Amino acid sequence: TVSRLQPFGSTIFAEMTALATEHDAINLGQGFPDTDGPASMLEAARQAIADGLNQYPPGPGMPVLRHAIAADRLARYGIVHDPEREVLVTVGATEAISAAILGLVEPGAEVVLVEPYYDSYAAAVALAGATWRSVPMAQDGDRFVLDLDALHAAITPKTRMLVVNSPHNPTGTVLTSAELSAVAELACERDLLVLSDEVYEHLVFDGRTHTPMASLPGMYERTVTVSSAAKTFSVTGWKTGWACGPAELVDAVRTAKQFMSFVAGGPFQPAVAHALEHEQAWVVDMRNSLQRKRDLLADALSGAGFGVYSGGGTYFLCAEIPGTGPHNDIEFCRTLPERAGVAAVPISVFTDHPEQWNHMVRFAFCKRDEVLVEAAERLGRLGV
Ligand code: PMP
Ligand code: GLN
Repeated sequence: TVSRLQPFGSTIFAEMTALATEHDAINLGQGFPDTDGPASMLEAARQAIADGLNQYPPGPGMPVLRHAIAADRLARYGIVHDPEREVLVTVGATEAISAAILGLVEPGAEVVLVEPYYDSYAAAVALAGATWRSVPMAQDGDRFVLDLDALHAAITPKTRMLVVNSPHNPTGTVLTSAELSAVAELACERDLLVLSDEVYEHLVFDGRTHTPMASLPGMYERTVTVSSAAKTFSVTGWKTGWACGPAELVDAVRTAKQFMSFVAGGPFQPAVAHALEHEQAWVVDMRNSLQRKRDLLADALSGAGFGVYSGGGTYFLCAEIPGTGPHNDIEFCRTLPERAGVAAVPISVFTDHPEQWNHMVRFAFCKRDEVLVEAAERLGRLGV
């Protein structure tokens, strides 16, 4: 392995999923739903295969999907994208993130991350030969918030890009409009690009709404927004995502993407387009059901002695490991599948300041009710 990738090893999701399988544990570690997306979307993918859509689709993505993404963003957020040049279909949001960083950040430049951060950001920055500074989120009661002073302090003359993720994995934080505005002002003032990871845009609870970074004043021209069918339509295995933004930025993402995968999976694209056009009610039902599941898991974790942070979005909850004394989230998660029959992921692996975060773990609640109830019972018997 080249030196710049040596710190990354294999991902925590792979490690915890393997442990869950080994111990036949309920996997609340890696985030993936245990029910399928909308039936008409699954049927549309089968139909696309039967219709022979099995060769390379166009590099930027099938027109039907690019148009559906642009129409969805216009209807939902009032953001206008030219589907020909301002929407790019990618192999999941993961490829959109890597291609955006590879296409827009020079070697030696700096990227600012907010920690805890989704693991692929730092790895993509390393692949680009750039460096990152990570700014820990601050705690406000049972919510994690942006530390705006620290964010300002992290910007240097070398900073090219700021990565923002709301709703936020792993904390579940949905940034407030004041936080979003402060980030936008900072980006404009310091002339930074923003990579806005909005894969959980539809998973916001308690009456919250999602505000895209690109909709703020001065932000459209400097923002690459990424999202994915994985979360919106419960198809993490389809690896169908997208990047949207002004043509010059999306051109750079497309240039890099061409040599990473060339194109994304053909038959999934018309199916996701179909879902964007016809399955919005399904998404609303899923959001409502996830909000209930969040409450179910939060109650169970509190009952088992975990300190639960209130998440306003995503399908993850963060919780403090019960008990006093020195905590080690990685050790806790490595032994939890065997001890409790439940898997979780440690938070400190998503940070550069592990000592600030090693008392916390993340649980996914995108599971059938009976699975969550069983997980709750197992955690209740843990007796930690
Ligand atoms: N960003 C975040 C914050 C995520 O949680 C995930 C999926 N876990 C991704 C990006 C990657 O999405 P995809 O599976 O579409 O590549
Ligand atoms: N995005 C999912 C999570 O955060 C899964 C990521 C993965 O397996 N790479 O759990």
